[in-house]
Amino acid sequence: MGGFFGVISQGDCVADVYFGTDYHSHLGTSKGGLAFWTQDGFNRSIHNIENTQFRAKFEAELSGIKSSIGIGCISDKEPQPLTVRSHLGSYAISTVGRINNIDAIADKAFKNPNIHLLEINKGQINQTELVSVLMDSEKSFKEGLLAVQDAVEGSCSVLILSQDGIYASRDKLGRTPLIVGQKEAYKDEAQGGTPEISYCVTLESCTLTNLGYKKVYELGPGEIILLTTEGVQKIAPAREKMRICAFLWVYYGYPSSTYEGTNVEVMRYKNGAAMARAEQVEVDMVAGIPDSGLGHAIGYSNESKIPFGRPFVKYTPTWARSFTPKNQDIRSLVARMKLMPIPELVMGKKLLFCDDSIVRGTQMRETVNLLYRCYAKEVHVRPACPPLLYGCKYLNFSAFPHVMDLAARKAIMTLEGGMPENLEDYSDPASEKYNGMVDCIGKALNFSTLKYQNIHDMIEAIGIGAENLCTYCWTGKE
Ligand code: SF4
Repeated sequence: MGGFFGVISQGDCVADVYFGTDYHSHLGTSKGGLAFWTQDGFNRSIHNIENTQFRAKFEAELSGIKSSIGIGCISDKEPQPLTVRSHLGSYAISTVGRINNIDAIADKAFKNPNIHLLEINKGQINQTELVSVLMDSEKSFKEGLLAVQDAVEGSCSVLILSQDGIYASRDKLGRTPLIVGQKEAYKDEAQGGTPEISYCVTLESCTLTNLGYKKVYELGPGEIILLTTEGVQKIAPAREKMRICAFLWVYYGYPSSTYEGTNVEVMRYKNGAAMARAEQVEVDMVAGIPDSGLGHAIGYSNESKIPFGRPFVKYTPTWARSFTPKNQDIRSLVARMKLMPIPELVMGKKLLFCDDSIVRGTQMRETVNLLYRCYAKEVHVRPACPPLLYGCKYLNFSAFPHVMDLAARKAIMTLEGGMPENLEDYSDPASEKYNGMVDCIGKALNFSTLKYQNIHDMIEAIGIGAENLCTYCWTGKE
């Protein structure tokens, strides 16, 4: 997926950009990058962060850099931020999203024979570079950013560090959030004087508090702003229609982040409580698969009054990253090594586990088998969202498998011997087909029982109205 962060300040912004970008590390596993404007022009670096944490890669480089404007990103795919010199001036650019019509946009750009794009691995185009080419074909950053919004199918939010300040453009359907924070800081608190003002723009609002910022603005879908040390200048208004990703709250958003007025952890408590209200099950303990299952499990436990416990702990000293490697075998190994059972809490117990979702199901099956090896009596599983039936068309998730590898699709293949054209019945909990599919998944993964959260209660827990949310990966509806 990926995330980005930028700061413009009356003082030095280097530490804020470094830590603020680091706070997006749960959103991507591939590349990390920082770009600062200094008195000598751009200071930009990009590192592979597949095996090392972001901070470890950048820490040594930053001593000695002084800058009052910078952006950083965590990317699941292409190297970013890119630094560009064009008729718009020198600028650095970073994007979050997924451009589905990337080849069509490139072919259109090549009608101008003076345009070329660098190829990255396997003949692919760097989507951030393509966005910069689109931008440069217009007269101003505003027109360029609007042209990007119009051209892109999929989703695309953009951050630009320019000589004017930082331009931020939220995806035209607001698929991912963008939030502005402001802080006033004294160089020397004891001496007083005039505070230095800084503004940041962030995908994850969890960056704000520890860096001393207060949220002052949240961009609407398609909205474009320019951040300067004077504040937020609105460049293009928000569009009416929003389709923010519902999976942000259920799975990949950070618990301390809030989007569109709903905090992630609070949503998870409400969601877990709704799951508990929908059934009566006799178990000894409610637990969550760390990390994103924990909030849903706490909500379930509080509502059902069944004690919450941690029959698993994560070995965080060396297995700290929450996203997982792209290779399935390595991912299974990491998952196995990262979670440690506590046999004393498992032996002879009937356990109910909440998890954010079931994607392939392979890790969950391994986890449940491990619990049985520790003599669990029963293991009941409660995913916090409906069965995933479709791949994500709007965001680049490295952890999302091919659609046919989704546990729900594999169950449908088993039941039908092929993939029916219409899967609508499989997303309707009242249908026989849905219940047959859930039975099939539960048996394949060796669960005592399996019950998915229903989409209405999940949407209710998010609380911003179904019409504002993307739920495509569950419903197949745009
Ligand atoms: S398809 Fe699913 S993961 Fe993708 S944006 Fe929509 S809700 Fe989010």
